[in-house]
Amino acid sequence: MMNIDMIHNPVLRRVAEKALSGTPVDEKDAIAMLTTSDIVELGHIADFVRRRENGTKAYYGVNMNLNYTNVCELRCPLCAYSRDEGEEGAFTLSLDEIEKRVRGAVEFGIDEVHIVGGLNPSLSLDYFLEMLRLIKRIKPDLFIVAFTATEYEYFARRSGMELSELFRAMIDAGLGALPGGGAEIFDPGVRGRIAPRKISGKRWLEVMREAHRAGLKTNATMLYNHIEEPSHIADHLSRIRELQNETGGFKTFVPLPFHAENTALAVEKQATGFDHVRIYASARIFLHNIPHIKGLWMYLGEKLAQVMLHFGVDDIGATYHYEKVVHAAGATTDDVGSEERLRRIIENAGMAPVRATAAY
Ligand code: SF4
Repeated sequence: MMNIDMIHNPVLRRVAEKALSGTPVDEKDAIAMLTTSDIVELGHIADFVRRRENGTKAYYGVNMNLNYTNVCELRCPLCAYSRDEGEEGAFTLSLDEIEKRVRGAVEFGIDEVHIVGGLNPSLSLDYFLEMLRLIKRIKPDLFIVAFTATEYEYFARRSGMELSELFRAMIDAGLGALPGGGAEIFDPGVRGRIAPRKISGKRWLEVMREAHRAGLKTNATMLYNHIEEPSHIADHLSRIRELQNETGGFKTFVPLPFHAENTALAVEKQATGFDHVRIYASARIFLHNIPHIKGLWMYLGEKLAQVMLHFGVDDIGATYHYEKVVHAAGATTDDVGSEERLRRIIENAGMAPVRATAAY
C-alpha cells in the first residue's frame, strides 16, 4: 500500500494521488518525474504501481539471442552493430549455422529464441520463414520472439506483401511475439539525428498496430541516454500509451540506455544513477496500462537492474546466449547470464523469481 504521507514533494504528491485513484498522469507530470531529485518518493509511487500489477513477482527468461546478420542498409549513427556487405566483421548466418546454434542452446535448456538482425538485401522472405520453421522443428514448444517493426516494414516492402499478410505467414511459420526494437525516440528532430534512415516513429506505431491486429503481443522500447530531453521521453511514453489504449497489444515496455562506444554518435552527457532510476520509475507510473517494465541486466548491469526491482521494474531480462548487439556498443556485462545468478539477484532483492517467456 502507498503511504501518501511520505510524499512531501507537491508535484509528486499529485502524481501519487493520481496513481492511487487510477487516473493517468499527463506529460507535464512525466517531465516533473523525469527531472526530480526526490527519487525515494518517486520510487515509492513506482513501487506501488509495480506491486499492484505484479505483486512481488520478478520475471526472468532462459533464452538465446539469434542475431542472424549484421549487414544493414541503414547504418544508423546510433548503431555499433551493423556493417556493410563485404566489410571486415560483416556476417550472415546460413540456415545450417542457425540450426546448429539453436540445437546447442536447446541442450542448455532454453525456452525462447529472440531474433533480430540488420536490413540485409541479400536475404529473401523464404530465409526468414524457413528460419522460424526450422526452430519449431528442433523443439516445437520453443517460443519465438522475432524481428523488429523496422525489419517487418522492410520485409513487406521488398516482398510486396501487406503487413497483415506478412504477419499471417510469420505466425503460420512459428512466430510467437515481437520484440520492441526500433522505437528509439519518436520525436522526428531527435530521430533525424540518431537514426535518419530508419522508419519514422509514426510508421513504427503503425507496424505495431498491425501486429496487434494480427493477434501478436509485442514489446515497446525506448532508447535514452543520448541527445533526448525529458520532453521527448514524455512524448514517447505518451504515444505508446495511446496505442495501448487502442489495441492492448503491448506486454512490456523496455527502456534501453544507449551505449555510445563504436557508434557514430558523440554523447557528452552520460546518464547518472539517478537518471536511470527516474526513467524506469516514471515509465512504470506513466504506462499504467502496460503490464510489465523490463530493466535489462545486460544493459544496466546486474547491480542497477536489481535496485530497479524496487523502482518499477518487474522483469530483468534473460540469459541471452550469443547476444551481439549491445556488446558491439561496448557493454561490459557478460554476454550470458546463468539462471542461478538471475534468481539470486531477484531473491536477494526480496522478490519472487518467476521463469517466463514473452508469452507471460
Ligand atoms: S540500428 Fe538496426 S536498422 Fe539501424 S543500422 Fe543498426 S541494425 Fe540497421
